[in-house]
This record gives sequence, C-alpha cells and structure tokens, in this order.
Amino acid sequence: MLLYDTMSLSGRNARGVPAHRHLSRRGALRACPSLRPEALVGALQYYDAQVDDARLVTYLVRTAAAHGAHPLSRARVVGFLREGGRVTGARVHDLETDQVFEVRARQVINATGVWTDDSQALVGERGQLQVRASKGIHLMVPRDRIRSSTGLILRTESSVLFVIPWGRHWLIGTTDTDWELDKAHPAATSRDIDYLLEHVNAVLATPLTRDDVEGVYAGLRPLLSGESDATAKLSREHSVVSPAPGLVVVAGGKYTTYRVMARDAVDEAVRGLGGSVPASCTDRVPLLGAEGYVARWNQRGRLAQQFGLHVERVEHLLRRYGAAVDEVLALLGEDPTLGEPLDGAEDYLRVEVVYAVSAEGALHLEDVLTRRTHISIESFDRGLVAARPAATLMAPVLGWDGERVDREVAHYVARVRAEAGRARAARRRDGGRRPAGRARRGASGSPWRPEPAPTVCPAHRRSRSPGVTGAHCGPAQCSVRALRTLLLWMREKRLQPRACVERW
Ligand SMILES: Cc1cc2nc3c(=O)[nH]c(=O)nc-3n(C[C@H](O)[C@H](O)[C@H](O)COP(=O)(O)OP(=O)(O)OC[C@H]3O[C@@H](n4cnc5c(N)ncnc54)[C@H](O)[C@@H]3O)c2cc1C
Repeated sequence: MLLYDTMSLSGRNARGVPAHRHLSRRGALRACPSLRPEALVGALQYYDAQVDDARLVTYLVRTAAAHGAHPLSRARVVGFLREGGRVTGARVHDLETDQVFEVRARQVINATGVWTDDSQALVGERGQLQVRASKGIHLMVPRDRIRSSTGLILRTESSVLFVIPWGRHWLIGTTDTDWELDKAHPAATSRDIDYLLEHVNAVLATPLTRDDVEGVYAGLRPLLSGESDATAKLSREHSVVSPAPGLVVVAGGKYTTYRVMARDAVDEAVRGLGGSVPASCTDRVPLLGAEGYVARWNQRGRLAQQFGLHVERVEHLLRRYGAAVDEVLALLGEDPTLGEPLDGAEDYLRVEVVYAVSAEGALHLEDVLTRRTHISIESFDRGLVAARPAATLMAPVLGWDGERVDREVAHYVARVRAEAGRARAARRRDGGRRPAGRARRGASGSPWRPEPAPTVCPAHRRSRSPGVTGAHCGPAQCSVRALRTLLLWMREKRLQPRACVERW
C-alpha cells in the first residue's frame, strides 16, 4: 500500500487517487455491508484504475488508423515471405473474402500472444520464445447481489481474488490454470466457477449461488515459459527477440505494460532498419475520444436534454466513447428512435449497434454482441434475445438482406450453444484436477495447502536480439525488478486516458 501511495505521488501528473487508509472492522462493514463480520478483523482501502480492454483495443486501432496505419481485421498470416535469410513480408489470408495476398515490409513484427509458438513455426526456424497459455475466468453477478460501495480484494492460498464494480454488475475473478486445448475457445469449467464462488462466499454473509451468475468468460494469458509447473508462477514480463533479419517477435507481458512492450518491439525493428528515426512519442498521443472528454462530461446534463436521454445514459455513452460521443449523438440527431434501449439488452442503446458497424469496424453480429458491447457476458441469456434486434439494426449499414440476417443470428445462437458444450466437455476432461491457481493437494490427500513461495525468479528472461539469455536472478534482483514493474505499471495506468477510477 505504501508503495502504491509513493508511486501515486512520484508520477508526472498531479496525484490521481487518494492515499490508502485503514478501516476498522466496523468501518469495513459500513463500506461493504455484505461482508460476514467474522470473516475479517479490519481492512485496507485503496484506489485503483480499471479499463475496458475491448474498448481500449478498438480506440488504439482507430487512433493508429487516424495516424496512417492500415489495420485489417479477420485476416490471418499463413506464411512469411523470405529473400535469402531475410523476412521481407507476410502471406495473408483474408477470411472475409477468402483471398490470399502478400504484404511486403522492411520489418515485420509478430505479436500473436498465445499463438506465438504457431506463428514462429511459420518462419521455418526454431522459435526463440516459448509461450504457455494460462486460462483465467471471470464471473459476472448483478450489482444488487453484493451490497458494497467498494470493490474487494481477497487473499487466496496462492494468489488474490478481485470483486470489481462493472456497471450494473460485479466482476469476480480470476483463476490461473494451464490451457492446452483449442486456443481460440478457452472454456470455463464447473470447477473454475465453484472455485470463485467458494472463495468469495467465504467472506459474504449471504452466499452467491450458481443462479446469481449471469455471465462467465474465459481468456488466455500469454506467459513466457519458465521452469515452473504452475502458470501462476510464470513471468508476467515480456521479451523481444529477432530470430531472423527483418523479423521481430514480442511476447509475454500484460495489458498494463502494452506501451512499453510496443516501444521495445518498435525499437528493435528500427535497429533492423538502419539509420535513425525520431524517439517514440506515443505516451503523448491522446487516444481518440480523449481530447475534449472532460468538457463533454461537464456538459452531460445539457447533452441529455438536447437529445432527450436520461443523464445516466449520456454518462454510459461518455464512459464508452469519450469525446467521440459527438459522433454517436449525431446518429441520434438523424434518427431519434436509435436513442431507445436495445431489445433484450436494455443497458445499451440501439445507436451503439449502429455506431459499432458504421464507425468501429464490426462486420458480424458476434463482433457487436461480444466485443463492441459486452452483451454476451452481461446478460443471463448471453444475448440470445438481443441477437435479432441487433442484426436488424446492422443490416441496412452493411447491406444485409433478410437471409443474411437469419444466417448471422443462427451463427450467433450456434456459438452460444457451442460455448456451453465446450464448458461441459472441459468439465469432463478436468478429471478431478483443481485449478493450479490454488494450492495443490498434499501427499497425504489431506486439506489443500499452499505451495512454498519461490525463492528465485522463475523466468528472468528479458533480452535483446539475437537471443534470449534465460538467466535467473536472486531475491534481491527480484525485488528491484518487482519495484520497476510496479513503477511501469503505475505509469502506464496513468497514461490510459479513459481509465475510470472507482472507489474499490
Ligand atoms: C482472466 C485474465 C485477466 C487478466 N487481467 C489482466 C490485468 O488485470 N492487467 C493486465 O495488464 N493484464 C491482464 N491480463 C493479461 C492480458 O489480457 C494479456 O496480457 C493481453 O491480452 C495479451 O495481449 P496480446 O496482444 O499479447 O495477445 P492476444 O490478446 O492473445 O492477441 C494476439 C492476437 O494475435 C492474433 N493472431 C494469432 N495468430 C495470428 C496469425 N497467424 N495471423 C494474424 N493474427 C494472429 C490473434 O487473433 C489475437 O488477436 C489478463 C488476462 C486474462 C486471461
């Protein structure tokens, strides 16, 4: 906590969040009346930032495009072009048109997360980075199921568990287990869900049940492989290597450090170009929607009046689009019916579906329901009711006929069913294994107990081209490294323009 406070003071900007404070048991229960009094002796309250990852990626891509990048979605690299030993581009399969074409480049950067091993294999040389997929799941429960004005962070046997405010929901997570099946479709098992419920229920006066869970989602963390068996112990740092002239690979890392990862990868690519380029300035480039956001927030009452919306609706739009809310509201000016809630997903307005396809590059119904909005995880029916109304709104913008609307809806319904099927299959395959994020069973088969903390860094491996050194470091270096990572993390968080700070 002290470190958090110090970081907060040492940043370039004015202090962003208040300092932490100690709460007595009574104080903690006042902040979170849903806690079981016997579950605590007191608490610490601190402040953190949060970001909607899907919105961040969308706005990063749009900002890059505004500065001259040519993003292409739904396109897969199926091979690399080579001239002699040098990589000179990539062969790309456009999954929308089914065409394969070549893209030539002086430097190619491969940043494919958990697919790094597969994409490295396309180069035809032994990959220098090994990436393991660690699955994490989150549960969504309605906000009224936990009475609290603050989020929660709880210690588990080997990690921590968060209960984070998320609109009208609580987000509960996460787990940390190996995933060796289809990387495109990680699935939450019953055990994952039970693990989270069990741990959060340990401190709640009224336990949550399966019926309270309105959404579950799973994701994969790309972790650089070390020698540890447990993914919870693998490094969260990143590496940049250049396995062949003209090719740079970046892997590992976290969202929080994405700018540092990008800078390191680009610096490596620039080294390969020869000559010099100006220093990176992306830490001073505001993302789309950042400029003018505060002024729009101050004007939210007036905007609500002007467009006939409740002020909370305008706040919802501002949190999602920043100052780009002007573009969204302009659509409302053309067709006021777009200001009505979307059937089946009343937290969202119909205009958000139209904006997703007209300005945010959504091409299919699943793009809108799973990534441009979070309807698929924020509603008990996973967006099945909202599917047709959303597809109908998308149709005129994308030139769909009735048959195409039916196909998109059928595809989405099949996807929801397949997800449920995969979760059942994963549960069968679980074979009694508990998530690695928790303690392992002792040899005697008696209660779960924590594993001893590692004394050396399992994966101190950050190096430059031509290869990774993979050296280990001692506890002292580890602390310095941890401090530095925390510093970078704090700094990067402050740079995300629309990170919304809540009391939690
Ligand atoms: C449950 C969970 C909680 C997390 N919490 C946090 C957190 O609190 N803070 C934090 O900082 N980080 C967190 N992370 C980690 C963070 O989400 C990841 O580090 C980050 O998403 C990795 O981004 P990436 O771009 O490296 O990889 P990915 O997001 O996996 O992106 C890789 C991309 O490469 C594409 N691709 C793959 N192969 C090809 C190919 N051949 N051609 C073209 N494209 C290809 C894929 O389609 C994909 O879009 C969390 C992760 C999980 C799962």
